[in-house]
Amino acid sequence: MYRLPLLRLCRKGAMSGVGKAVAAATALQGLRHDFPNSMKAVYLTGLRQMELRDAPAPRLAGPHDVLLRVDTLGVCGSDIHYYKHGGAGSTTVAFPLIVGHELAATVLDVGGQVKTLRPGQRVAVDPLVSCGECDQCRAGRKHTCRNQKFLGYPGQLPGALVEYLVMPAACCSPVPDSLDDDEAAVVEPLSIGVYAAQMAHLAPGARVGIVGSGPIGLCTLLAIRAENPATVYSTDLVDERLAVARACGAAWTGNPQREDVVTAIRRLEPLGLDVVFECAGEQDALDQCVQLLKPGGTLLVIGIPEVDRVSFSSSVLRRNELRILNVRRQNECVERAIELIASGRVNVGPLVTHHFSLEEAARAFELVTERNDGVVKAIVRISPEK
Ligand SMILES: [Zn+2]
Ligand SMILES: [Zn+2]
Repeated sequence: MYRLPLLRLCRKGAMSGVGKAVAAATALQGLRHDFPNSMKAVYLTGLRQMELRDAPAPRLAGPHDVLLRVDTLGVCGSDIHYYKHGGAGSTTVAFPLIVGHELAATVLDVGGQVKTLRPGQRVAVDPLVSCGECDQCRAGRKHTCRNQKFLGYPGQLPGALVEYLVMPAACCSPVPDSLDDDEAAVVEPLSIGVYAAQMAHLAPGARVGIVGSGPIGLCTLLAIRAENPATVYSTDLVDERLAVARACGAAWTGNPQREDVVTAIRRLEPLGLDVVFECAGEQDALDQCVQLLKPGGTLLVIGIPEVDRVSFSSSVLRRNELRILNVRRQNECVERAIELIASGRVNVGPLVTHHFSLEEAARAFELVTERNDGVVKAIVRISPEK
């Protein structure tokens, strides 16, 4: 029979080091021998329709790949675009699609050339598989690789709402035992916040706006506050998210449904803000960002709009000489995100609000779509703690 509980026991540190190693080796011997032919997978089969099905279990093929057991998966706003609208921007879903790309996993087996990972290790996974050969990869920009394949992205790779997954070892970063499986799944969105904060080159004590306090807005807030005594003004349409933003270090929060947030922030910062992060993917939010910035200020666009075209007031952009930077996911910020959580400088705890089993994945997606019950980050526990 296929045995996972032993592996789980090992990583929880219930045994001595030697005992752990022996038990892990025994369990993994069993795994290699008895690895199942099929697994459970959740397919997006239509708009707001998900189905739990049996799927072929993946096999370790390439010498640089690893076989992973998926432990936890965070539901991302981009997954919700596919779930609710069948696409985002110029991307359209061909159903059925397995979505999901924010995952924590345990290494079950490694290819012959893999030197950096060993079975039993827990990892955070970078869902981007880059080619390593194009001009972008060679220039250190693998996130804009011309031949990239991303987990759970229409037309690229199937996602991680599955029990097992094969990924290149290069996509897997070991996490210390001090990170639990929820925290390890939040490494991916946190790495985007870390990257966006780096791109902004904030001066110490900068005046910053974050328009939209969903998981990415909150991760950006956490990343900024971990490294900089910046004063951050955060907004969102959902009050519970504003409470989380305050817990994550926002100096001021406001809900544009109840007040004119631009006027309110301008009252406190008459000169305007140095940098504003757009994390909502909405035209109204983009307009607020532009109105909040001081002349010479910088707008970072992280949110993903449903529509493919957005607009700006060209006279305001030009007269104020505003800079607009677009953020595509992240680049080489996974290790930093792990360090920030492991060192205690970032606490992602307030973000993780709900848990579901793999069988309940559709409920998780419905909850996040409706933004009910104060949900921020919903986590699907695919291989729950034994
Ligand atoms: Zn995501
Ligand atoms: Zn490439």
